[in-house]
Amino acid sequence: MSFLSKWKDKIAEKKKQKEIEKKLDENRVYKKEDNQKEFDESLKKSSSGLNSLVDTIVKSHTKIDENLFDDLLEQLILYDVGYLASEKIVNAIKEEVKAQNITDINLIGSIIIDKLLIYYIQDTDISTDINLVDGRTNVVLVVGVNGVGKTTSIAKIAYKFKEMNKKVLLVAGDTFRAGAVEQLKKWADKLGVDIVTPNKEEQDPASVIYTGVEKGYQEKYDLIICDTSGRLQNKVNLMNELGKIHKVINKFDETAPHETLLIIDATTGQSGLNQAKAFKEVTDITGIILTKMDSSSKGGIVLAIKDLFNIPVKFIGLGEKMTDLKQFDLENFVNSIANEFVASHNEK
Ligand code: GDP
Ligand code: MG
Repeated sequence: MSFLSKWKDKIAEKKKQKEIEKKLDENRVYKKEDNQKEFDESLKKSSSGLNSLVDTIVKSHTKIDENLFDDLLEQLILYDVGYLASEKIVNAIKEEVKAQNITDINLIGSIIIDKLLIYYIQDTDISTDINLVDGRTNVVLVVGVNGVGKTTSIAKIAYKFKEMNKKVLLVAGDTFRAGAVEQLKKWADKLGVDIVTPNKEEQDPASVIYTGVEKGYQEKYDLIICDTSGRLQNKVNLMNELGKIHKVINKFDETAPHETLLIIDATTGQSGLNQAKAFKEVTDITGIILTKMDSSSKGGIVLAIKDLFNIPVKFIGLGEKMTDLKQFDLENFVNSIANEFVASHNEK
């Protein structure tokens, strides 16, 4: 049984379950949020991008041959899957076509989706939980290139934990970009959380972080989130800077930072991924936040990240507001893509 048909069965089963739940819900005061629906909405662009990819292939070919596979490779690369991953996926599709002796062009769509999803799921660390523990001071370091959404994501995380009644401290470690400290300060005011800012204008990022983390441990904050600058003049400088920051944090807790989140902008495609790779090479990244998924039609980037980083995407950014951050849920993501595909192909 193919992966996609298993998924279809699962969806049917879920529908039945939903109807039962709906009946039960009528008697409930508390209603849980329908995460899947939100996911489907927010990922509409990405999943319809994949559907039009499949449609392009099916419409512009009459038979399954080398031409089709070349075209498919090109389309996957355009969808930001990345060259290496695209090649592996196309090879897997070729093998399947050969093994099953498939000649009907109309079947190629579900095989493509099948192999894409299988590719993503294979040996993936599917745990997207963040390593934050109750009863200790947790330190989160946020890194990434300029403009990818670090500061905004920090505000979004702070909002989530503030809502859970946690004591949150922000540290304005981006002392290089003009206005960066002000931007975080504005968020802190809006959210009603505390912030540590540099006391002199040209303060070194590591020393601001020292002051911030010291305060955080002394005053028993639940969560300290450190902003950093995205300076990437060269790898050695980046390594030195992040190394210094790590050392400073380690003075307070050897196990910290408990999360080092790399922010990647989904709209920048392969060049954004190449820049982000420099961070992976110089420091231990524990998770990825993929921002601007609301404005990207290329969900393939999730597959390219898997190929290049093999670090779990833990959150996705879906807009500029503080509520626009969702925990990345692999099952929801796969469901969302498969749902859209099944829906649009059942209509035809
Ligand atoms: P930083 O330089 O990495 O700190 O990036 P910022 O947090 O300043 O964000 C850069 C721009 O991207 C700002 O205009 C943000 O509002 C915007 N932004 C950040 N995250 C998202 C997102 O998930 N969706 C959209 N549409 N815009 C975002
Ligand atoms: Mg910033």
